[in-house]
Amino acid sequence: MMIANLVGPSGLRVLILEQLPSLIDYPRGVGMDDECLRVFQSAGLVEKAIPFTFPNQWLDFRTARGRTFAMVKPKGEAFGFPKRNAFIQPLIDRVLLEGLVRYKNVEMRLGYEMTGLSDNGRAVHVTARAIDGEERRFTTSYLVGCDGGRSLTRKLVGIPFEGQTESTRWLVIDIKNDPIGVPSAILVCDPSRPYVTIALPHGIRRLEFMVKPNETEEELCSTEGLKRILSIAMPDPASARIIRSRVYTHHARLAKAFRAGRVLLAGDAAHLMPVWQGQGYNSGIRDANNLSWKLISVLRDGCDPTLLDTYETERREHARAMISLSTLVGRIFSPTSWLLASFRDVVFGILNRIPPVRDYVVQMRFKPMPKYTEGVVVGGVSSGRTRNAVGRLFVQPRVALRNGSVVRLDDAIGYRFAIVAWAADPCIYMNGEARRVWSRLNGTTVVVRSQTELMSDTNDVDPETVLVGDVSGGLKEWFATEDTSVAILRPDRFVAAVCRPQEISRAINALGRAMRMQSEKGVPYCTNADNNCANVG
Ligand SMILES: Cc1cc2nc3c(=O)[nH]c(=O)nc-3n(C[C@H](O)[C@H](O)[C@H](O)COP(=O)(O)OP(=O)(O)OC[C@H]3O[C@@H](n4cnc5c(N)ncnc54)[C@H](O)[C@@H]3O)c2cc1C
Repeated sequence: MMIANLVGPSGLRVLILEQLPSLIDYPRGVGMDDECLRVFQSAGLVEKAIPFTFPNQWLDFRTARGRTFAMVKPKGEAFGFPKRNAFIQPLIDRVLLEGLVRYKNVEMRLGYEMTGLSDNGRAVHVTARAIDGEERRFTTSYLVGCDGGRSLTRKLVGIPFEGQTESTRWLVIDIKNDPIGVPSAILVCDPSRPYVTIALPHGIRRLEFMVKPNETEEELCSTEGLKRILSIAMPDPASARIIRSRVYTHHARLAKAFRAGRVLLAGDAAHLMPVWQGQGYNSGIRDANNLSWKLISVLRDGCDPTLLDTYETERREHARAMISLSTLVGRIFSPTSWLLASFRDVVFGILNRIPPVRDYVVQMRFKPMPKYTEGVVVGGVSSGRTRNAVGRLFVQPRVALRNGSVVRLDDAIGYRFAIVAWAADPCIYMNGEARRVWSRLNGTTVVVRSQTELMSDTNDVDPETVLVGDVSGGLKEWFATEDTSVAILRPDRFVAAVCRPQEISRAINALGRAMRMQSEKGVPYCTNADNNCANVG
């Protein structure tokens, strides 16, 4: 649904087939990160999503005796939002569903189960069974299989799902009118029965208990079973108002490829991870953020379909890193051996006394951030000192507009390519070829100056250039640290290139090549150094 919400404004036709008659209402995702909220912002849905989240939730790891041995409470909003947010997945999924009605070109068919597909190299033919049993056929340029961990799409195109499924199961319970109330997410690392207790928005409490090998789902989810297990976490389980309960198994699996011809995989269909880092949903949204603008570029803007190969190049390794981290955290959190648990408690006790190590955990620096070295990134253009910024997510401070309002930076850009430049408008240095590429990319230019300069009458920028004031100094800090003054951003807000103003043509032409743009005559742009292209990657 996020892909459809991002592609919707392009006018391309999107059809979603969902086998169920309504969206899933199981207890699932509860932790949403800043990157994910930023994608909701790109889709124009963040204000609708925020009421179903609560920001800056602490994550408190406790020993069996209740002593905190690690704490995660990150500060700052570098990407425009708090780093850890509690959320309720079915409510946020509803926001995505409701977002689709904005687009006449997007159609959601509930109660349609995809049963088969064939890719003949020019199109994908899909068969689906409607809820009334009728069989329907659809033809599409590209099919994105977002059909969950058991993905039929993945199986039909023969992509192996490598990794493992853990033997441990977890009972997940959501309760209304929170009987515990503490606003944190607490992981009680008790080897006899590890469990998690998480405060969710709207007074809901999430509890997750490790299931013992001799316990059955039927027994645990019975009224007596639920009362017995809830008594571990609360004094009066009989009065708990249970919304839902369900038993899950944890998987750590990664699809061997994210693309086979005209079929792509996204979300749990491409990667499954244990829930310990709360990254399954977030990773699926990252996939959508990476893939949507590439689909638009290929289908609407005439980029070569090989551009879609960069989706796998850019996303797969990061998904692997998230799976590894989630698996590691699970091992730390849930050993069932007292010996290992005691060893862990001692080690963390020592590490906590070393401020840089403690800070590494508290500020969540262990979270792998995407960094693309291949794909739609252009290195080697800038004569500045550092090229560290290329392939990373750009910061998102608030900026002032000339009408006096203050907005998040991305809102001043829109969902498109952007040149964000400090002080000077680099477009005056652009040669004809670069101008053509930039116009084909439908790019915009944002010039940033200090807020003090914004209201002066000497702001001589091109009328089409957006001039913004750097309210917090965050953009000045970014450009000064990176020793550059121009950042070229992709629609997903990753830095495609950095340069100085007079290097803009080289950077844009190289970007055209990285985008596999075809010229009007069908010849790729910038095939050699004469065309001022820099190396890609
Ligand atoms: C207990 C628990 C806690 C979690 N906590 C977090 C968390 O804190 N943070 C986080 O980021 N993630 C979390 N996750 C993971 C998150 O819920 C999933 O990663 C996310 O829902 C995956 O979304 P998806 O759209 O890829 O797949 P799904 O949500 O599984 O959606 C797939 C959809 O495809 C449909 N479908 C399947 N086959 C077909 C077919 N043949 N035809 C048509 N439709 C089909 C299904 O009905 C389903 O609606 C948690 C998961 C669990 C179970």
